[in-house]
Amino acid sequence: MEKLFTLTNCTVLTVDGQDSIYPDGCIVIEGKRIKRVGPAQSVSPEGERVDLGGALVMPGLINTHTHSHSSVFKNQADDLELMDWLHKAMWPMEKYLSAERAYAATALSCLEYIKGGITTYADQFYFADATARAAQKSGLRSFLAATVFTNPCAETDDTFGAAVKFVQNWKGRQEETRIYPCIGPHAPYSVSGELFGEVARLSWEYGLLVHTHISETLDENRQLRERTGMSPTRWLESLGVLECPVLAAHSIHLDEEDLALYQTYNLRVSYNPVSNLKLVSGVMPMKEMRERGILVTLGTDGAQSNNSMDLLRDLRTGVLLQKMRERDATFCSTREAVRMVTIDGARALGMEHEIGSLEPGKRADLIAFDPESPRLNPLHRNSLNNLLATVTYSACGADVADVMVDGQWVMRSRKVCTLDEAEVRKNAQECSEYLVKHANLS
Ligand SMILES: [Zn+2]
Repeated sequence: MEKLFTLTNCTVLTVDGQDSIYPDGCIVIEGKRIKRVGPAQSVSPEGERVDLGGALVMPGLINTHTHSHSSVFKNQADDLELMDWLHKAMWPMEKYLSAERAYAATALSCLEYIKGGITTYADQFYFADATARAAQKSGLRSFLAATVFTNPCAETDDTFGAAVKFVQNWKGRQEETRIYPCIGPHAPYSVSGELFGEVARLSWEYGLLVHTHISETLDENRQLRERTGMSPTRWLESLGVLECPVLAAHSIHLDEEDLALYQTYNLRVSYNPVSNLKLVSGVMPMKEMRERGILVTLGTDGAQSNNSMDLLRDLRTGVLLQKMRERDATFCSTREAVRMVTIDGARALGMEHEIGSLEPGKRADLIAFDPESPRLNPLHRNSLNNLLATVTYSACGADVADVMVDGQWVMRSRKVCTLDEAEVRKNAQECSEYLVKHANLS
């Protein structure tokens, strides 16, 4: 018998195709899925009743670009130029990573995702196996891309071989693990054409999402042009990579021809505004993308270039930045904003029929906000625009009270149910101290 219960006394922002809202709503959940959702007067509760005390409920947030291992690098490399940031802090610390430390770091990131209302995230890093073990324990839905580099990394000299092994170990077990293996060629400037070709073949063989970084900086474009005579996007096309399902982080410095390729090949974009602001990489051309119908989603990027995994704060920043870029207060509406972190994020991961909105038949991945948070008051429960603006501009991760994935509570009243919070913090502290000491950062 599958567990049957009903969430009552809540305002439901469904993010479905009709933008349905239920000011006094209820959600019946059976096993991992939503059985019914609607107004309290027409949906009869079934099974155990769970009173949410008037909370605003919405689909769980989807973070489409992050590096979970980097939580232990947090606040160690700030106010630096990109190259100094890499050479003086990031790479010296990465050298001392191990599977055990990657596990501790990922557990801390997962703790932060849960506390900020993220139920699904797309990660890219090596030590993917250790990352997956921590992710599985957290109960989150994790799209883990094993990173591929031309150069050796702290884990192995053969990152592609390690990625193949990771995919073979974890593929097809998502009902049990909530882990969805992907492949993560780091970027056009750090992965050879030959290796990109192998990645594309692996993607076809296993049906894998290719999660990469494209045109984050002008310098990257210049380097690629010197080496290949092409922009990063055109070079990837020439290698056949764009024929795979591609999730492209950053995507800042794109010309007309690049944008046309993004459109033709349906590239899925992860907009990373806080990381881009911090490293002064540039501002992503969202308007040009939207005009071409290119799918735009939102990612925090790693803690080394963001310092926080609060997707709601990044949403607010990202929307405001785009309004300023366009000098247009009407650009990027709250409706578009909320979709970026829910249904559009689901689409980018090929999961739009499973997650991203609260509809019968979909998985019960959802969050409930604390109705007592002053940031979220007053709330006009009958107004779609008011609810969307509350999420886009007022809410932050700390306002999330409850988190559910696959019908299972991952957090209740801000207490995480899947991880031992004190132990996760302690392990990450020890790990970070070790890395800082050995990399001679302080
Ligand atoms: Zn990144």
